[in-house]
Amino acid sequence: MPSPLASLDLSFDSGAARAEVLSRIAAAARAAGRDAADVTLTAVSKQQAWERIAPVLAAGQRVFGENRVQEAEERWAARKAETPGLELRLIGPLQTNKAREAVALFEVIETLDRERLAEALVKAADKEGRLPRLYVQVNTGEEPQKAGIAPLEADAFLEAVRERHGLEIEGLMCIPPEGEAPGPHFALLARIAARNGLTGLSMGMSADFETAIRFGATSVRVGSALFGGRA
Ligand SMILES: *Cc1c(COP(=O)(O)O)cnc(C)c1O
Repeated sequence: MPSPLASLDLSFDSGAARAEVLSRIAAAARAAGRDAADVTLTAVSKQQAWERIAPVLAAGQRVFGENRVQEAEERWAARKAETPGLELRLIGPLQTNKAREAVALFEVIETLDRERLAEALVKAADKEGRLPRLYVQVNTGEEPQKAGIAPLEADAFLEAVRERHGLEIEGLMCIPPEGEAPGPHFALLARIAARNGLTGLSMGMSADFETAIRFGATSVRVGSALFGGRA
């Protein structure tokens, strides 16, 4: 029987990988004439073994991204109390029937993309007495299988969640289509944010976070470059 650890490359040093990613972020910011302090590293811990996450946490990382509510609860709920400053960000699609759990667990929800969800979040916030910071996800590539509001509907959607639902929005998030140059998608997201008076831009992953920083990313979501490949 192969051990459950057989697929985990134990030689991967995630603590060292974090130092490397942070220095690449700093270099990309410098090259773009930006302050590295204005770019937050979101460590995407989904589907990673705790053995990989612990060294990153020990190195001082406090912002983590998860794409599923239940998995995030299992990984983080008990650890939250003993980890001051922990900031959990939901970066995957959210079902309205999970809104309350998400509002209770996450500091940031990056995937608001429909009014029914805005409604559910307002209700959940009432019950939980807390409201996470919110990002609207934009489907910049207009991919049918991908979540997010279409670029042409983004302005009206932002107005609706702000005016009709009374929600404050911190920024926008996107995931460019695989196999396409990400730059135009990052530029589009930045344009939509600017004309709507939004400063937060969650964009860029392991393969393209330096490009995203060039286009103005204020947070980059990095998984495999930090923790190694997912199971
Ligand atoms: C998994 C995931 C990431 C991280 O991807 P890597 O390529 O491993 O860095 C970033 N953003 C979202 C929305 C994800 O689901």
